[in-house]
This record gives sequence, C-alpha cells and structure tokens, in this order.
Amino acid sequence: MVCLIFILGKCVAGTCEHTRARNWVQCERCTQWYHCVCVKISLTKARDGTFNCC
Ligand SMILES: [Zn+2]
Ligand SMILES: [Zn+2]
Repeated sequence: MVCLIFILGKCVAGTCEHTRARNWVQCERCTQWYHCVCVKISLTKARDGTFNCC
C-alpha cells in the first residue's frame, strides 16, 4: 500500500534520515509506515507489489 501525502505519520525506519520525504509505503504485515526512500524501494515497486519490512 502506498500513500503520497501521509504527512502526519512517523517513519519507523531506525535509520530514517528523510523526514521530509513524501512517498510512503506500508508494511503488509505489521502495518507500519515507512518512507519509500528509507526502505530503498522505488515508488513504482511499492505500487506494484506488497512491501514487507519483517
Ligand atoms: Zn523515513
Ligand atoms: Zn513489517
């Protein structure tokens, strides 16, 4: 699941350095949100498939 304007959320990537990134992807398992850039997934990929952080 992808969201482009999920601006109120908190990226749970431990190494998040992109607090202003605007593209988000949700883990299908734990339902937490990450910046696409923080988990190194392209927006295209995030749209096409499912993302699992764990
Ligand atoms: Zn982040
Ligand atoms: Zn997860």
